[in-house]
Amino acid sequence: MSLEASYERVFRLDSSSFQLRLDVIDVLADIRPSARIIVEKGAEARKCVETLLFEHLEICVGSSCLISPGILQFADHHCISDQGKQCNFVRLYVSKERGRAEATKAADELAQDSALGAELGYPGCCIHAVRKRGAVPKILESLRLYSAGGRYDPYAWPVAHLYDAGLIPHFPCSMSCQDTHRIAQARLRLMISVDSIYQTQFWRRFASLNTMVYPAEVDAYPWNRQKELGSYTPLAPLYRLEVAV
Ligand SMILES: [Zn+2]
Repeated sequence: MSLEASYERVFRLDSSSFQLRLDVIDVLADIRPSARIIVEKGAEARKCVETLLFEHLEICVGSSCLISPGILQFADHHCISDQGKQCNFVRLYVSKERGRAEATKAADELAQDSALGAELGYPGCCIHAVRKRGAVPKILESLRLYSAGGRYDPYAWPVAHLYDAGLIPHFPCSMSCQDTHRIAQARLRLMISVDSIYQTQFWRRFASLNTMVYPAEVDAYPWNRQKELGSYTPLAPLYRLEVAV
């Protein structure tokens, strides 16, 4: 079974977010040892699970959760507890090794954030930065945290998750974190190595990082809170993503 064919099967999960598909690809391509994905119960979950099993990936099913439809792309950070409510989504922990999938689920359910970050293959420097901070930054905080002099680095820009165009799975320790850049570049290289119609679709999505300007883009987002944004300087990318089709 060729890896390229495997990537293409995952790309084809087009009822799921780009974020979810890249998380699964990370595991298949050994970019990261495990991933946590959130799928809607029913058709999306069925399609995902079928594909994951076909690729011989191990899956641990976690707890159900509620997600507002508008924040799906950033689901990992906005899961709401399912106490007594109807939950339409479910967390899945995916890895090539059963033990890793189970350890990822355990760390998540025990709220051991650093252990979870390590299981998910996040860079140690970035795990440390979040631990020191006490919590992952909010999106509006990220606008300032990951930019300098009116520029953001498209390889280390978690705000792009708002548009399902995030190239990285985690919050980096800084916009110049080398380990973070390595993950983003590995994902981009892999995307363009696959010869399929999905490659173009993916490239278009992520190439949007070359042109996004903030906060104008954020203003357009429905859950933007103008008051919190205040007088942000418009942000533009520091440089264009290197890879081109
Ligand atoms: Zn880092």
